[in-house]
Amino acid sequence: MSEIIIAIDGYSACGKSTLAKQVAEHFGYLFIDSGAMYRAVTLFALQNGCVIDGKVNEKALVECLSDVHLEFKKEAGIPRIHLNGLDVEDEIRKGQVPNFVSQVSAIKEVREKLVNEQRAMATLGGVVMDGRDIGTVVFPNAALKIFVTASLEIRIERRFQELKAKGIVVEKSEIAKNLNERDYIDTTRIESPLRQAPDAIILDNTQLTKEEQLNWVVTHVKSLLNKNLS
Ligand code: C5P
Repeated sequence: MSEIIIAIDGYSACGKSTLAKQVAEHFGYLFIDSGAMYRAVTLFALQNGCVIDGKVNEKALVECLSDVHLEFKKEAGIPRIHLNGLDVEDEIRKGQVPNFVSQVSAIKEVREKLVNEQRAMATLGGVVMDGRDIGTVVFPNAALKIFVTASLEIRIERRFQELKAKGIVVEKSEIAKNLNERDYIDTTRIESPLRQAPDAIILDNTQLTKEEQLNWVVTHVKSLLNKNLS
């Protein structure tokens, strides 16, 4: 077992994607941000009249799901999501997308489509994927499952700084509201709710630097690989 699948799940803005990116880079694995895929479908819904009066029109979106083509293309070594041929990596982080993504993600047909695509991307192994259902649904047999947590205060601060660095200014109260709403919908939905897999290990990174959290994961991966060699 040399090229494993590493599943990273957890609440919104816990630093899952940052960690997944770091780990993938360290081991030369493929990094897949599954949240970017749900966000891109949400952008599609907003652009194609599938959100009316503040509600996602499920039926309309499901009817045109076959028109949604997603692809990750690397730029400077970092994968960026493309929706129907266009780079939307930045657009999916702002505007109305964060407000509707959890409604869109709760739709069964959307999940079926994206889970199939996520599995297809990982057929060769050597993958780090982050999201909400990676260790429970997408890859229940992943060699390593990590459930990331952090305090709400630090999550708000990190998201605030992340958006600020991109030139997007949002009030912290607005960020807090969005994180709470998404976590609520993500944990209570019927389809693949966010849950810690029974065999996942918890990483609370509230007090950890990026380097410390990477070392934590690297130690776990190495001990897993050594165990399987002996
Ligand atoms: O990870 P990120 O915050 O970008 O995810 C955006 C949203 O996409 C989440 O709040 C959740 O509603 C949805 N999502 C999901 N399943 C995943 C990844 C993301 O439902 N595997």
